[in-house]
Amino acid sequence: AKTHGRNSSHFYAPAMSEYARERVHLEALLRRSIERNELLLHYQPQVDIRTGKLLGAEALVRWNSPELGIVMPVRFIPVAEDIGFISALGEWVLRTACHQVKEWDESGFVLPTISVNLSMKQLEHGDIISTVFSILEETGLSAERLEMEVTESTVMDNERVLRVLEGLRALGIQLAVDDFGTGYSSLSYLSRLPIQKLKIDRSFISNVTNDSSREAIVRAIIALANALNLQTIAEGIETESEAKFLRQEGCQQAQGYLFSRPLPPDQVLARWLDV
Ligand code: C2E
Ligand code: CA
Ligand code: CA
Ligand code: CA
Repeated sequence: AKTHGRNSSHFYAPAMSEYARERVHLEALLRRSIERNELLLHYQPQVDIRTGKLLGAEALVRWNSPELGIVMPVRFIPVAEDIGFISALGEWVLRTACHQVKEWDESGFVLPTISVNLSMKQLEHGDIISTVFSILEETGLSAERLEMEVTESTVMDNERVLRVLEGLRALGIQLAVDDFGTGYSSLSYLSRLPIQKLKIDRSFISNVTNDSSREAIVRAIIALANALNLQTIAEGIETESEAKFLRQEGCQQAQGYLFSRPLPPDQVLARWLDV
């Protein structure tokens, strides 16, 4: 409190450096998370919006750090992207998810498809196509059962990304545009993408039935998907009225807390094995 007035900047300097110290600490811990076996995947079911039948699941990464506790991806994915760790992390996610599906196959639980998130940085650097190819080979998972989700902002008007996506598609995997509706894709570009599915962003789904502009946007996205022959999945469905609206509008697939939260692998089995 002594440093009021013209020296007030001194108040902020220590706070800033503490923030910087924490960030450096987080980066150092994150870099070691794979070798220390601290990453894990939760799986959130994706269902047929009419029948509730299980169609697949999205793999969502978590970091169980002894120092920091459970860290959610919003906190460490951007850091991993900044420090050049996202390709290693993404490869870990892909390999673990594909192995998990094969393990489930062997236990008699057949998850039709597995969706994995792909970061822009993974498309820009490294050789994602050969990574995916080797992981499919190594696990024996058939390519059609793997779907990769790429955010709309990532795919927007980028020829290089387009070529990488074409290479991935040529392997036989499925491609979905994630967070659709938030990225202002040009429609002509969208029609050139080798994609099979649009994933309607959660921000349009939550409270969709109380908000006429959200309703209009969701309708427009579903109409666009139909016109381009794409499947639609709505993420973040929390209420029956949201599900009902989407069903009426012809959305095909659903993901959200109404159907299931993201679950650790053993709970996926317990919840879905016999349905
Ligand atoms: P996303 O790809 O849009 O994933 C959906 C997020 O919404 C997940 O958060 C999920 O838990 C949450 N969610 C699902 N249903 C509901 C619902 O009904 N209500 C609400 N409020 N939330 C719901 P999560 O797991 O925290 O992941 C956040 C983001 O982190 C993901 O957003 C994705 O962009 C990123 N992420 C997660 N795993 C990975 C990964 O392995 N690689 C990359 N590159 N990014 C990942
Ligand atoms: Ca996603
Ligand atoms: Ca989203
Ligand atoms: Ca996302």
